[in-house]
This record gives sequence, C-alpha cells and structure tokens, in this order.
Amino acid sequence: MAISLPLVFDAPRRAMPPRHLADLDDDARTAAVAELGLPAFRGKQLANQYYARLIADPHEMTDLPANLRDQIGEALFPKLLDAVREIECDAGETRKMLWRAVDGSTFESVLMRYPQRNTVCISSQAGCGMACPFCATGQGGLQRNLSTAEILEQVRAAAVELRDRDGDGIAEPARGGRLSNIVFMGMGEPLANYNRVLAAVRRITAPPPNGFGISARAVTVSTVGLAPAIRKLADERLGVTLAVSLHAPDDALRDQLVPLNRKYPLAELLAACRRYLEAAPRDFITFEYCMLDGVNDDEAQARALLRLVGEHGPAGRVPCKFNLIPFNPFPASGLKRSGAARVQAFARALIDGDGAGGVVTTVRKTRGDDIDAACGQLAGEVQDRTQAARRMTRAPIAIRPAAPAENRR
Ligand code: SAH
Repeated sequence: MAISLPLVFDAPRRAMPPRHLADLDDDARTAAVAELGLPAFRGKQLANQYYARLIADPHEMTDLPANLRDQIGEALFPKLLDAVREIECDAGETRKMLWRAVDGSTFESVLMRYPQRNTVCISSQAGCGMACPFCATGQGGLQRNLSTAEILEQVRAAAVELRDRDGDGIAEPARGGRLSNIVFMGMGEPLANYNRVLAAVRRITAPPPNGFGISARAVTVSTVGLAPAIRKLADERLGVTLAVSLHAPDDALRDQLVPLNRKYPLAELLAACRRYLEAAPRDFITFEYCMLDGVNDDEAQARALLRLVGEHGPAGRVPCKFNLIPFNPFPASGLKRSGAARVQAFARALIDGDGAGGVVTTVRKTRGDDIDAACGQLAGEVQDRTQAARRMTRAPIAIRPAAPAENRR
C-alpha cells in the first residue's frame, strides 16, 4: 500500500488577508465605496483602474483626487503579494514567480509565452490537501485557501509583465503583449476553494471595467476530481474548460496516485464530467495524465483508458482530449519520469484508438524543469527548509504496478 498523507478538504482556520477591491463583486464594490462616503462613480473608476489599466496602487490613479488616495489605498488596495523570487528559463519564455502573502504563506505562478498565446498558470491555495504522491505541492499539505484577490493579483501581475516587457523585440503580433489564457494548474485544488475560485473566474471573464475580459474558453480549471464540485460547477454554466487529473485507467491504481479517488471513484468522476459537458457549452474535457515510469505508462493502460472513457460516454465516448504530462521528478517521490519513447507509444495508442476510434492526445512540453521550477518545486524548495525534518521521517512512496481494470468490477 502506498504511504498516504491525510486528505484535507477544509483549510486550516488561518486568518485570510485583508479585503481588497478584487475580492468584491459589483454590488459589494458599490457598497464598499458608499461605506467610504464616496459617490458611486468612484467604484467604477477604481474597477477600471484595476482591471483595465492594471493599476493596484491608488497613488498611481491619476483620476483620483490626491486627498482620497490614502483612504482608498488603506480600505481597498492593501498590498497582498510580495515577489520573493523570479526565475526565467526557456530563453525568457517561461517566467516563474514565487509569491509571499501577508501572513508569510508562499505560492507560485508561471507565465508561459507561446507563439500564439500567453498563458499564466496560477495557484488557488497555498499548499494542497489532496496528497497525490507524485505532486511536490501535495507533500507539504494545505496551508490555506487563497483569497479571490490573491488569485486575481497573480493574473494582474502576469498581464502587467506582458504589457510592460513585450517590447522585447520579438515581433509576434499574434500574441502581442496581452494575456490570453489562464490555467488553474498552480498550487492547490481549485474546487476545494470553490467560492473564491468561482468569484475569481467571474472577474477574469467579466468584460472591463468589471473584469479582465478574458474569454471563458481560454480559462481552464484543473481538478483532481472533486465530483460534487464538478457537478456544481456545471450548473454555473460558466463555459470554462475543465481539465481533470486522471492519471490512471482503473480505480485500483488511481486510489494510490490520487487518494481522493477512494472517495469519488472513476465511475462517479466520469459521470460528473459528462454532466459538465451537457450543462456547459464546452465540447470536451481535457484529461491530464502524468506519465510515471513503470506505473501508468504501459500501452495496455492506454487501451484501458480508451475503454474507460468509452464506457462512460452518453452514446459512446466521453468527448475528451488527453494531455500527457511527463512527470517532473522530485526526490521524495521515489518515482521516475517515463522515457520519451514510452510516452510516444502511449500517445500513439490513444491516438490510433480502438474500434471506436482514437482520442486527440497531446504531450505537454515541460517548461521550467531545467531549473527545478516545475510543478510546485519553487515553493517546495522554500518549504524544504521548514519541513525537512518531517519529510526525512517518511518512508519513500511505494506504488504497486497497475491492476487490470476488470479486477475492480
Ligand atoms: N489540483 C489540480 C491542479 C494541480 S497541478 C489538479 O489536480 O488538477 C496541474 C497538473 O499537474 C495536475 O494534473 C497534476 O496532477 C499535475 N502534476 C502535479 N505534480 C506533477 C509532477 N511532479 N509532474 C507532472 N505533473 C504533475
């Protein structure tokens, strides 16, 4: 049996950061401005400065009378994030930020530039309670949920970075200096911080001046598979892309790789995915699959995956794509990345498919792993210093080879 950490759903009762304009929806913002004794139009003005002009310091808001700036700054624009470290790699196309919140919690975001888009990968929690053994973040446990404003500040920082630095001589008008895509694939389980993540998604997608105006399709929420929250998200009909971390074709193996599977096994998870597609105007689910050498990367497991998504579709297959992620190793995991040839063969098996045809499959180009900055490893490094002792006492994680899917039924 794998050594397992406890699953933690409720964040420890740590103090949340002070209120920020970005925590507020339109009504709450109007109320907050009225509380300060200011006319309603100031609320719109502040939102416009924040979401459209990307300014979070009232002293830079030139349309605000100077005598209001301190008061508004204190009430609505506390400084929430400090940049502790910035690391650039892939010739500057990947930029990783390690943030420290006012209470000292750390978390990270990554800005990735591609020829046709600019994507920021953001965190929804400091740490994570889902305890997946192959994920560095999961090893440190959950510190706390991020506030909506802490989530949005990561987005704003990325948008500022692109706006201010893309005069770098790279002539690529297709992507310009604009942030186009958001993925909730940083630290944390977004659906375990449901309300704040939902509020953040609404602000990300609302047109300026009430939000950043990024299309819902370009926002991806990645979940470990909290089935009830997926069903709830379906009912919000936001139209965001849902990515589900599958990682195994059968419950026996998934129970080990994704401990949450013991609570919400594959049948329930896939039913929730189907419901998501029915409710939201989306064409497909993205299944993420972390490729672990000798654990889940056998071609027979690719065929089992095809059967799995075939069994749970309405009239056939759950409309889906696979995104294979080469494992980013970290020493405490005791796990290894699948070799390139194995990843290719696995992808080929999914693409070629079975009697019911193949599934669109991509292999994620790993970014940042040359500097140990991939997937939770930057904040992990900081945690290492404080948690080294705890980690030393834990036995390496042992994962049994996959059991055939049929054994479970
Ligand atoms: N909690 C969310 C977001 C996690 S990070 C979720 O589980 O989906 C986004 C993706 O990176 C997830 O699919 C996660 O399983 C994967 N991941 C985590 N650690 C990894 C590692 N060391 N190597 C490769 N992928 C990893």
